[in-house]
Amino acid sequence: MAKKRDYYTILGVDKNAGADEIRKAFHKLAMKYHPDHNPGNKTAEEKFKEAAEAYQVLRDPDKRKRYDMYGHEGLGGDGQGAPNFTSVEDIFSQFADIFGSGGSIFEGVFGGGFGQGTRAGASLKCKVNITFEESASGVTKTIELRRNEICDACGGSGAASGTKPRHCATCGGRGQIYRSQGFFSVAQTCPACRGKGMTIDKPCSACGGSGHTPKVVRIKIPIPPGVEEGTRLRIPDEGEPSDNHGPRGDLYCYISVKEHDFFTRQGDDVVCQIPITFSQAALGTELEVPTLKNKARVKIPAGTQSGQVFRLRGLGFRRFRDKTEGDQIVQVVVETPKKLGQRQEELFRELAAMDDTYVSPQRKGFMDRWKDYFSDS
Ligand SMILES: [Zn+2]
Ligand SMILES: [Zn+2]
Repeated sequence: MAKKRDYYTILGVDKNAGADEIRKAFHKLAMKYHPDHNPGNKTAEEKFKEAAEAYQVLRDPDKRKRYDMYGHEGLGGDGQGAPNFTSVEDIFSQFADIFGSGGSIFEGVFGGGFGQGTRAGASLKCKVNITFEESASGVTKTIELRRNEICDACGGSGAASGTKPRHCATCGGRGQIYRSQGFFSVAQTCPACRGKGMTIDKPCSACGGSGHTPKVVRIKIPIPPGVEEGTRLRIPDEGEPSDNHGPRGDLYCYISVKEHDFFTRQGDDVVCQIPITFSQAALGTELEVPTLKNKARVKIPAGTQSGQVFRLRGLGFRRFRDKTEGDQIVQVVVETPKKLGQRQEELFRELAAMDDTYVSPQRKGFMDRWKDYFSDS
């Protein structure tokens, strides 16, 4: 026999891959090299056996540990834990929990996507809070999610240790039964195994036979730049596991963006208001304004009106459609001084005199007003 390849390499997974990832990797390979897909193809059959062997070791925590420490030698050759499949049928019976129904692609995991009768797991929802800046730059958030995972104790089969699930006698492992209705026969989910195709004599005590146990898992959520409040992101295959060999459901992430102290969002544009003085508005100035990523300088021409807006091209939010960016809109607000010093008041009165407009008389101090009050009476 040729030199054995590394089991992790065969499945294309990392040394630290979790049970679920290993299972998924095997699914994928088994689908690709399944004999039903490659009739008479010897290479495919070898690949199929190779993947099954790798999976059989890596899914078993005990064997995996020995393999990690000592390599193929650790499995002690034939008869001591090294898998030795003689035929494809042998593989089907070993992995009955995966192939479900005699290994046929038409009834198990491997048919057209996921085959007849299989159901995807339920979808899950989560909420992710991000800052205004993160909504602009994009960010990866790690969330904790409680969901069902493959039971460690039984590897997902649901059968107590030392026992194996059996093909359901009622449906013959198909998960469906056929009832004739007039000329037609109608497929129904098998009531005995509820569509799983397998029955368990002695359920695994850790998961009660479901093959799943609830766990808190950490999931990385890649959030693209440009998301806004209420954006819903679909993370495929991170929902609940299927209860009959289908794919996991999806995870839907709802984005919540924290309000910013001085930025607001309008479509793909980011808006900020900047106060300027009378003199700046009248004489013109150059302002340094904060932007989503840094700072920018804006030229305010002489004679700028309160409320006037200035557009900084390309400094807004990333658009999903065409990967271009919105603008930053700077709105200047001319602030009227609330209190004037004596000299300031003099200058404003001079200006008013030049404009020849009526202005209120000079404000009087408190004592002056008292004096007026007494002199009038
Ligand atoms: Zn279990
Ligand atoms: Zn059944």
